Amino acid sequence: MRNYTQFYIDGRWVDPVTPNTADVINPATEEVSGTISLGSPADVDAAVAAARRAFATYGESSVKERLDLLEAIQAEYLRRETELGEAIMEEMGAPRGLACGFHTLLGKGHLGTAIEVLRDFKFEEQRGVTVIRKEPIGVCGLITPWNWPMNQTCVKIFPALAAGCTMILKPPQLAPYSAQILAEILHDAGVPAGVFNMVQGQGSVIGAALSKHEDVDMISFTGSEQVGVQIQKDAADTVKRVGLELGGKSAWIVLDDASLAANVASATAGMMGNSGQTCSAGSRLLVPAARLDEVRKAAAEAAGGVTVGNPQGEVAMGPVVSKSQYNIIQQYIEQGLAEGAELITGGLGRPDGLDKGWYVKPTVFVGTNDMVISREEIFGPVLVIIPYTDVDDAVRIANDSNFGLGGYVSGEDLEACRAISRRLRTGAIWVNGGFDFHAPFGGYKRSGNGREWGEHGFHEYLEVKSIIGLPAPA
Ligand code: NAD
Repeated sequence: MRNYTQFYIDGRWVDPVTPNTADVINPATEEVSGTISLGSPADVDAAVAAARRAFATYGESSVKERLDLLEAIQAEYLRRETELGEAIMEEMGAPRGLACGFHTLLGKGHLGTAIEVLRDFKFEEQRGVTVIRKEPIGVCGLITPWNWPMNQTCVKIFPALAAGCTMILKPPQLAPYSAQILAEILHDAGVPAGVFNMVQGQGSVIGAALSKHEDVDMISFTGSEQVGVQIQKDAADTVKRVGLELGGKSAWIVLDDASLAANVASATAGMMGNSGQTCSAGSRLLVPAARLDEVRKAAAEAAGGVTVGNPQGEVAMGPVVSKSQYNIIQQYIEQGLAEGAELITGGLGRPDGLDKGWYVKPTVFVGTNDMVISREEIFGPVLVIIPYTDVDDAVRIANDSNFGLGGYVSGEDLEACRAISRRLRTGAIWVNGGFDFHAPFGGYKRSGNGREWGEHGFHEYLEVKSIIGLPAPA
């Protein structure tokens, strides 16, 4: 049992102003795995005041000082990486191999990338008679979701630290453990008091208090569209910057070539990764209509090969995060059946032999783009295959969505992949499984307005100042 009932404020672990605890449930067993405290606006006030005090000095720190700090954090992160992975497995149900692998690797990757970018980042440049300076925006509220806990927190904290900002992290209530360990890592690495603060609790209380706070300069939020809209409203009165990284319904276009079956198989298996709880998941698989039979076979085999079970074991897929998420996914599967989508594998209920825990069957439908299951983010292991007639039709279907977060193109002709990628209205497109920590990540349309990852992630936390009338010294 984990008992994490204190918050990290001003360089110390402190009790909440008003005691209020909540159980944390392990989604693999439905049993209580520990306790956290739920904070109140008074805790947020204390954390914001500490961050404001610390900004006076940390905001003036040198690049060398910040690089030394990030390198000290890197050493501490590496030392506790397995612990972080185990916490992720317990809090949100990712299988051990994934939790201690890609989950923690993403956090480590954002940290290493922040160090690389900071080494060469131009905080000041001369253009004619003007000096253009990039200065830290100030006190930042960081609000994160549970689905990739280290990815989401690290992609915010490390660029913010590199930029010279101070911050208050509000971790997700469903996945609070890894954030607690990360706070210990930052403390042990010597982050100065007040630079990083963490208050756990309910989004509607802690998140809203941060969004409305007079002394918070910006909010960086990753989560659902609905909450993103609320945060913008809450932040409006104080005109603070709001960076939003929201949901998606990304299209994966498979081209009509010799690799079709292999590409369909990897897209299907990819959709089931992390139990389908990935904002940029390729949840609409667009395939040539003339080859639908081959596609059905390849997708059914790939989904059937996904092993589901307790995350402690050697499985590809664990449970989804909570009972409520399980119920939402079941409702979407029911909806797909009701609106006439063809179920080719999976379906309602838990997989055979799994009676406890929030396990969902890897599910694949063939449907059309106007169905609810093709338009709304399900956030579970449910794939909708949508046939296209030609490349123009594929692009039209891909772009016919309220979202625009990710996109995928698989095919042997790279020039065709390039041409299609240019026409997609989304923030990131992966061609044949490419990956890059320096590639900016963020959404078009209702998928958000921010850009994280790599150098672009730094700009979220910087103000731009022009000093006009200062030519370069002779
Ligand atoms: P969520 O919006 O319910 O919660 C996200 C965070 O916001 C949590 O910490 C929550 O406590 C907090 N919150 C809730 N109500 C709030 C309020 N009124 N004010 C301020 N904060 C509040 O999302 P979730 O269920 O945790 O995560 C899943 C969603 O996140 C999906 O839609 C997914 O696509 C999205 N997501 C997006 C990205 C991206 O980079 N674009 C990455 C991961 C997840």
